[in-house]
Amino acid sequence: MAVQPKQNLSMDSVSETGFLNFYFSMPEKPDTTVRVFDRSDYYTVHGKDAVFAAKEVFKTNTVIKMLGSGSKRLESVVLSKMNFESFVKDLLLVRQYRVEVYRNKTGSKSSKDHDWQITYKASPGNLSQFEEILFGSGGGVGEGAAGVVGIRLGTGSDGQRVVGIGYVDSTLRQLGVCEFPDNDHFSNLEALLVQIGPKECVLPGGDAAGDIGKIRQVVQRGGILLSDRKKAEFTTKDVVQDLNRLLKARKGETVSSAALPEMEKQIAMSCLAAVIKYLELLSDESNFGSFKITTFDLGQYMRLDNAAVQALNLFQGSSDDHTGTHSLAGLLNKCRTPQGQRLVSQWIKQPLMDKNKIEERLNLVESFVEDSELRQCCQEDLLRRFPDLNRLAKKFHRQNANLQDCYRVYQAVDQLPSLVQVLERHVGKHKVMLNAVFISPINDHISDFVKFQEMTETTLDMNQIEHHEFLVKPSFDPTLSELRKTMDQLEKNMQAALNSAARELCMDPGKTVKLESNAQMGYFFRVTCKEEKALRNNKKFTTLDVQKNGVRFTNSKLSSLNEEYTKNKEEYEEAQNAIVKEILSIAAGYVEPLQTLNDVIAQMDAAVSFAVVSHAAPVPYVRPKILEKGTGRLILKGSRHPCVEAQDDVAFIPNDVILTKGKEMFNIITGPNMGGKSTYIRQVGVIVLMAQIGCFVPCDEAEISVVDSVLARVGAGDSQIKGVSTFMAEMLETAAILRSATEDSLIIIDELGRGTSTYDGFGLAWAISEYIATRLKSFCVFATHFHELTALAQQVPTVRNLHVTALTTDSTLTMLYRVKKGVCDQSFGIHVAEMANFPKHVVASAQEKALELEEFQDISTVDEDAEPEVKRRCTEKKEGEKIIEDFLHKVKALPLDGMTEEAFKAELHKLKVEVVAQNNRFVNEIVSRAENVKKALA
Ligand code: ATP
Repeated sequence: MAVQPKQNLSMDSVSETGFLNFYFSMPEKPDTTVRVFDRSDYYTVHGKDAVFAAKEVFKTNTVIKMLGSGSKRLESVVLSKMNFESFVKDLLLVRQYRVEVYRNKTGSKSSKDHDWQITYKASPGNLSQFEEILFGSGGGVGEGAAGVVGIRLGTGSDGQRVVGIGYVDSTLRQLGVCEFPDNDHFSNLEALLVQIGPKECVLPGGDAAGDIGKIRQVVQRGGILLSDRKKAEFTTKDVVQDLNRLLKARKGETVSSAALPEMEKQIAMSCLAAVIKYLELLSDESNFGSFKITTFDLGQYMRLDNAAVQALNLFQGSSDDHTGTHSLAGLLNKCRTPQGQRLVSQWIKQPLMDKNKIEERLNLVESFVEDSELRQCCQEDLLRRFPDLNRLAKKFHRQNANLQDCYRVYQAVDQLPSLVQVLERHVGKHKVMLNAVFISPINDHISDFVKFQEMTETTLDMNQIEHHEFLVKPSFDPTLSELRKTMDQLEKNMQAALNSAARELCMDPGKTVKLESNAQMGYFFRVTCKEEKALRNNKKFTTLDVQKNGVRFTNSKLSSLNEEYTKNKEEYEEAQNAIVKEILSIAAGYVEPLQTLNDVIAQMDAAVSFAVVSHAAPVPYVRPKILEKGTGRLILKGSRHPCVEAQDDVAFIPNDVILTKGKEMFNIITGPNMGGKSTYIRQVGVIVLMAQIGCFVPCDEAEISVVDSVLARVGAGDSQIKGVSTFMAEMLETAAILRSATEDSLIIIDELGRGTSTYDGFGLAWAISEYIATRLKSFCVFATHFHELTALAQQVPTVRNLHVTALTTDSTLTMLYRVKKGVCDQSFGIHVAEMANFPKHVVASAQEKALELEEFQDISTVDEDAEPEVKRRCTEKKEGEKIIEDFLHKVKALPLDGMTEEAFKAELHKLKVEVVAQNNRFVNEIVSRAENVKKALA
């Protein structure tokens, strides 16, 4: 729980009424926007926001105070600066809400005038105004990457419906546009949103029905915050002019956006215009000349739908926590720099399709895997010394950097030669590659920055940096050296003041009592809390504050010296101002090389991270053999799920995966609950994705043809309670969505509608499987409880049955997690044995259960003119009853007394085979019901 702030919201009644009047006159806002009022030394939130903050920050309602009375009562909560910062972080980074901060322009707290105006605001896609709060000066992590996308539907030149999107990433300073046709489920849009990963989306407001409604669903499924904007903002009217300002000119050219090839995409351009307006990019001059524009090519990366992102648990929070703790991003991200972390996230969203590109990344990773010294040196020592160069470049560009930032860059560049040195020591087979991707660009940067390093060395006072002060060298200017002299003398005097204070207190100077300084207070003395009693009753000393690490205090001597020192320091800073300005304006010329250096470091960090993970896994990963798309081979020997095997308490059982074009393309996996079916099918997807982002894979051996997409359908965890109609709708939708798959796709289906294994559900599952297996011819792995589905293998030669194995004894079921060929007959065996042991009871209950299913209700008394489907079921039911009767008859007729258990089982098996051979759905249904009955009996 957060510490409650000491401040009270103190307003006199005039001021309170004024504030309330203002507050209630504000326009309405959605609950996902939080308004914060900055009262200079603390913050307040009101109304619903107050209740929310009370719950989230303080975990108690007692912090809520009421302002006003009667109908104008308003909940208020006070936030300290620290509360505010952590609250804002949570709102923007975790919850993906918007935040607006208001300040009273009339100044005074108690003033009766209330003219509160927005001083800054942020949304998940636009964090720039909160950057300092969110990421501090050290730079942010992966979440820092943020973007806003605008989407609009239009009609292409051929009269076809076209989806246009415009995209702004303010972290990477990228603008993007893309136009494409799409199906009724907007699967292309969904895949594109996964690839660019925006945090926020703007849509033309108004429509909620039809296609726009569907687009909304796609956006929301991806966990992206939606904002409606005026339709009129989606116009290309001013876009040329806007882009002329925003885009970076190439050397010696002026920007002429009108000639850009992107301009042809008018629908997408109108979306880009709306996003530019939404982010108010033009109101901040520092944005001018700093963006690049690209056309996003939908086909260059593997397509992933949202369901696949979740099923493969790619990112934290994107899963139902099926595989336990780790997301793939969490697992693969062992980066040492924020830029590396951002890049790993991006790579995971954008798996490659070009075999050469994949091999290139694998070569880099392999170099770091094979050369332990190089890997360790980079990971444990060198990379962590690099700050977030991208963020620094932005500060330089905006001219709001300071000398400390210059020093950070200086230090980073200073590390480059050691980086080159360790890279050059490498003698592996990809030496040329390392040279091209890292060594030679880094060497170029070293020479680019020679002048910068010289400037920093000649201007910065390196002696003071030890004291965390970033000042210009005194020798740089006569006024500065005068001031420095005085300050040095003052420091000496303060040291003397410490000595006499120590004598006074009978303590050891520099040991029990210390002279320290910080930016807020300047110089002060400090003793530990234990020594505090020596200060009591000593009027010569004034306590400044009491902290955990001791009591800070001063006396008249020190305080006057400190005052003088502070004054001198201010003068020093004033005097160096002009020089600092000069330095920073020179530094601003290094934005471009800083950004490219940032990219080199990011790439190296990401490749090293993959290598570290591949090497440190419980069983080291191997380099996959990549085959061109269309080769149709997916052979994984001894494959594991990387996230499940990383859990502490799991001894993972490896399994093989074999999918080959024209032979085995569709695997149906059956077996007991918790037997490892989901894990198996998901690991296929995860491994293919890992290979295509250029990482080693958790297998003994892997041969992987590049796939164009990984699509998933996964039943909701709570599907037991879902109605049949929802289930049907889900299945129908699945069938439609899967139409975006090609024969080079990988489809993962984890049975939908578990527990509703009805005829309808089964029929659809069958139809979908048949469609995929015979028409789409994609690779597919399907985990199911519909044992009946296994019969598909008899009809379609490319369908194979697999099952997860378990060991049963009288009362226990031990999972073996081993995936074997064929249908799971173990569980069927159990049912049969059960039926033999408790024939009447079991069959009666099972039949009763079956009758509860609507499909079988009253179908024994079916009319002449009933639907053909109902008639068919009726016949099946009658035939099924006959099969059961025969079966029971034969079981009863077995000479049980004279038989060994072995022989009994063998006989049962024979009878069972007879039953299976008849493949009657009613019987199959009852058998699966019997499993539940067995559980109930147990
Ligand atoms: P259900 O039918 O209930 O959905 P399932 O058959 O899909 O279950 P999983 O959810 O894949 O089963 O696996 C259940 C648990 O078994 C996992 O959380 C994991 O801890 C463990 N497990 C799965 N596969 C393996 C394996 N190959 N080796 C070791 N443990 C495994």
